[in-house]
Amino acid sequence: MSLVFSFLSPAEAIQSVLRVPSVEYGITLESDFFLLGRSGATETRLPESFYLREGAALPEDIDLHTAHDFAQNWGLPFEVPLSDNPVRVPARKVIRELGKLRNLCQFAVKWFESGKTLTPSREILAWANAALDAWKPRLGISVSGGVENGSSVTVAGLVAMQWAGDIDAEREMRLCEFCGARFTLQRGRSLSGKHRTTTATRFCSHSCANRQGNQRRRNQAEEGRGSID
Ligand SMILES: [Zn+2]
Repeated sequence: MSLVFSFLSPAEAIQSVLRVPSVEYGITLESDFFLLGRSGATETRLPESFYLREGAALPEDIDLHTAHDFAQNWGLPFEVPLSDNPVRVPARKVIRELGKLRNLCQFAVKWFESGKTLTPSREILAWANAALDAWKPRLGISVSGGVENGSSVTVAGLVAMQWAGDIDAEREMRLCEFCGARFTLQRGRSLSGKHRTTTATRFCSHSCANRQGNQRRRNQAEEGRGSID
């Protein structure tokens, strides 16, 4: 065992891996709940711009089914210490916290759309700062397979850090010309005339740029055939 100091830069933090517990739905006379298990937990990385896409796409009325799917795919928006025995978490708490996460994500979209002039509510700022607490520097004890007392990353921490990272890097939001997905890019790349029309500024991914190119070639080929007749 040894003492470790952990401090992640925003860039490293966004690359962090989430531990997603196994989730089962349960119900008693009093309430609905989720049973979270450490066994069967998987590790996953949050996709880029998750807060502008999946996060902002959470519905206004989050039901049990949506909350269950979200927890199974991305984990919980708050920290739950997992143990070998399944941990019971009230479903209504998951739904309530997911609502706060959605509010931040949807605000971030409106903030970009407003030209970064909107002011967030105190609630949104407080939620974001609480989520960012997961990244504060701390000392931990290294044990086999990880760090004890180190930070435990939740999807809330990653969502807040994705937005904070984009704010810090002065990135702009764009809509992919092929699939319509939101993505962010460096300001210089979007505003300098030289780079205005590169694929990086028009498409969310290489695959969308390629698919758009294929479609254009197909259309041109069809037009070509049409003109011969
Ligand atoms: Zn796309």
